[in-house]
Amino acid sequence: MTELEKAGSELSQAASPKTIYLSEYRKPVYLLDSVELRFDLHETRTRVYSRLAFRRAPDAETQAPLKLDGNRLELQALKLNGETLAPDRYVLDDDRLVIENPGPCFELEVETQINPQANTALEGLYLSSGMFCTQCEAEGFRRITYFPDRPDVMSRYSVTVVADKQKYPVLLSNGNRQEAGELDDGRHWVKWQDPSLKPSYLFALVAGDLACQKDSFTTMNGREVSLQLFTEAENIHKCDHALMSLKQAMKWDEDTYGREYDLDIYMIVAVNDFNMGAMENKGLNVFNASCVLASPETATDQDYYRIQSIIAHEYFHNWSGNRVTCRDWFQLSLKEGFTVFRDQEFSADLNSRAVQRIDDVNILRAHQFAEDAGPMAHPVRPDHYIEISNFYTVTVYNKGAEVVRMLCNILGREGFHKGTDLYFSRHDGQAVMTDDFVKALEDANAIELKQFRNWYSQAGTPELTVNESYDAEAQKYSLTIRQHCPSTPGQNEKKPFHIPLAMGLIGRSGKPLPLSLENTNTSEAKLEQMLDLTMPEQHWTFSGVEEKPVLSLGRGFTAPVKLSLPHDDEALAFLFARDTDEFNRWDAGQKLAIKIALKLMNDYSAGKALQLEPMFIEAYRSNLNNSVLDKALVAQALSLPSEFYLADQCATVDVEAIHAVREFMRRQLAEALADDWLRLFEENNVPLAYRFNAQDMAQRSLKNLCLSYLMELDSLDQNKVGYRQRCLQQFQKGDNMTDVLAALSILSQHDVAERQQVLDDFYNKWKHDRQVVEKWFAIQAASPLPGALTRVQALMQHPAFSIKNPNLVRSLIGRFCATNPVNFHLLDGSGSRFLAEQVLVLDELNPQIAARLLQNLSRWRRFDQTRQLLMREQLERIAEHQGLSKDVYEIAGRSLEG
Ligand code: ZN
Repeated sequence: MTELEKAGSELSQAASPKTIYLSEYRKPVYLLDSVELRFDLHETRTRVYSRLAFRRAPDAETQAPLKLDGNRLELQALKLNGETLAPDRYVLDDDRLVIENPGPCFELEVETQINPQANTALEGLYLSSGMFCTQCEAEGFRRITYFPDRPDVMSRYSVTVVADKQKYPVLLSNGNRQEAGELDDGRHWVKWQDPSLKPSYLFALVAGDLACQKDSFTTMNGREVSLQLFTEAENIHKCDHALMSLKQAMKWDEDTYGREYDLDIYMIVAVNDFNMGAMENKGLNVFNASCVLASPETATDQDYYRIQSIIAHEYFHNWSGNRVTCRDWFQLSLKEGFTVFRDQEFSADLNSRAVQRIDDVNILRAHQFAEDAGPMAHPVRPDHYIEISNFYTVTVYNKGAEVVRMLCNILGREGFHKGTDLYFSRHDGQAVMTDDFVKALEDANAIELKQFRNWYSQAGTPELTVNESYDAEAQKYSLTIRQHCPSTPGQNEKKPFHIPLAMGLIGRSGKPLPLSLENTNTSEAKLEQMLDLTMPEQHWTFSGVEEKPVLSLGRGFTAPVKLSLPHDDEALAFLFARDTDEFNRWDAGQKLAIKIALKLMNDYSAGKALQLEPMFIEAYRSNLNNSVLDKALVAQALSLPSEFYLADQCATVDVEAIHAVREFMRRQLAEALADDWLRLFEENNVPLAYRFNAQDMAQRSLKNLCLSYLMELDSLDQNKVGYRQRCLQQFQKGDNMTDVLAALSILSQHDVAERQQVLDDFYNKWKHDRQVVEKWFAIQAASPLPGALTRVQALMQHPAFSIKNPNLVRSLIGRFCATNPVNFHLLDGSGSRFLAEQVLVLDELNPQIAARLLQNLSRWRRFDQTRQLLMREQLERIAEHQGLSKDVYEIAGRSLEG
């Protein structure tokens, strides 16, 4: 860098980061016909040679400069059409290389040097456990070379990777392996060619000493695809489940969407240091090791389940994301919302549909509703950002999936698939917008979805108020539903949403009543009806309703809204026992538990003695003894709403009251139903060789739920039933990680003499296995026992911990801040202070991880005065810090605004 450039770069760093607006989108001026890359890999000095064939877009201005993105690069050489470019022909600054008037059609050669070893942000090219790997979404490619690093510039890549043969015997990139050779100096090379058109964010490169497990899949047209999973040799026995899941996903996408895989090879690499779960790079997925490797001894049912769904998610991206990609990053939900919907449906088809739905709704309610109600609220298609990495959110992913689900509900499965067929064929090889997706669904179904588009542009969770009346004489039942969406930052006025709501009516005997809606011309009475709420207030009347019914509304959670129902406790208990819709049956139990918890929280704050209503205990007892229901659903029914979801129901979050009341309810249920828990535990405590299937998983989850209730009785165990003994025994004798970890986690939450011993034993047994050590950290971070912060700080000094590894940071620091509210929110302010310190340390290393951690402070306004002050103080401390990353700057700024 020249002195002038240095001065310039310091200037631009001091200036506050710029906001990017959707409205400022401009089409690319120069298109890329081909990309040729050569990587000369060295740990600290990697050379990247690139040859780019550019062509000016037909409708572009003729004198326009070429603007390339680049970040933390050392430019070594720059040639235009074979000639070194004079310094006065280009301008170089911190994040750009601008070349004046390069002509209509030209070849650019760029040589850069980068330092993978120093790359702790894990974006671009970096080293992880001695292997080279890349992460280019969203804007990581610009850390490799100067490039039009935007998803609407798609091109064909050919890539040569050169590295030391002994240290890096395996050299991978996207597409097909073309040629390979050896050099005299102990180095070797492999050339890869990707025939597909792709944006730079889907580029990938891996080099390392990796073992490979192979499999194959024959596509619907009889083509054989080679499946290859690469990992460190010590983990090669953990590949079966991922490969099986991959074949299931490939088959499902053929059967369900008619989508066939397009290359002859599909590679997956497991890496230890990764900011996210996994990445869908064309033909070469890179996975966080914890999201791909599994064995019964080391991975839980939850891990198996998650791996199956993430493998599918990344595979599904091959169509929804790669072949049809995003025009710009505001359109992120085009690929993520749709792909999450696809993986949710895949999991529902392969496992239990109702359980999948409940899990998805739990995530939405616990996290997305909170995001939508806080300072980070943004539409599914945001319209401005400072740092796009901050928008890989539950809103873009999970609410985005709900929006696609509503479209599927509105159009019906068949209409929806006609729409997706048209979408894929119309836009194959293109970079498009969420609006193009909706348009394809409209065109294929000759329907208009103008109002529906509000779901993409408006943030916030709609709140629905429901009123009902029944006229026994006329046998008429009427419903009135009003919708209202609270304002969100920058959006005060909301237009009404189009909200599809599935509903049914149930008679006193539990029988579903036939529905005949007035003023419609369908004569046939059905048992379930889809209501389309489009106005601020709307009425429906059903005729021929012979008795006063109980309403079951929002069945299967057909829309991401908050429903305020006219039900009293008795009606909720009735639905909890009788609703024919499995989702709503569970949800009635949740709603009942919430009503009761809110009452108890009032009592708690008023210093009154707490008492759990017998009717609630009886409702639990009847579910406990329901032998017809799927065991997984019983386990769900018997789980109280999370502290997060309870918090979302409170005007002001009272951390202690929420925790105390929920614990009180658990203990009361444990005591009152002790015999039932024990019987159910014994019934389901059958020695089975571990298999991953819905049935066995359900049994284990029910058994372990019983065990957790039983341990509540440990201190009361005068009759020496031996609850703790059962727990210890399961910890010691369990032959699968699901059972062992369940027991360990329960023990770690109780102040029992054996607590430290079991934790130590567990560590000593598993210290050689990273994935298990992550769990060990996480369990301790989440334990609500007093003194958690001190334990977390001590664990940060443990030899197995590293602040540079995102999984460990998430397991220990992230877990503590996000899932241990009683300890994190102590009134001495120690939790927020600790968080702020860690954010500042992490921001120097890995801004994405720092920003995610900081999000835990963003909802400070929801708490009591004292805690608000404590949290705001730390946010201000961060905001005032010099040299923040864009990531942290944006979260801190938004959190303090307004
Ligand atoms: Zn994705």
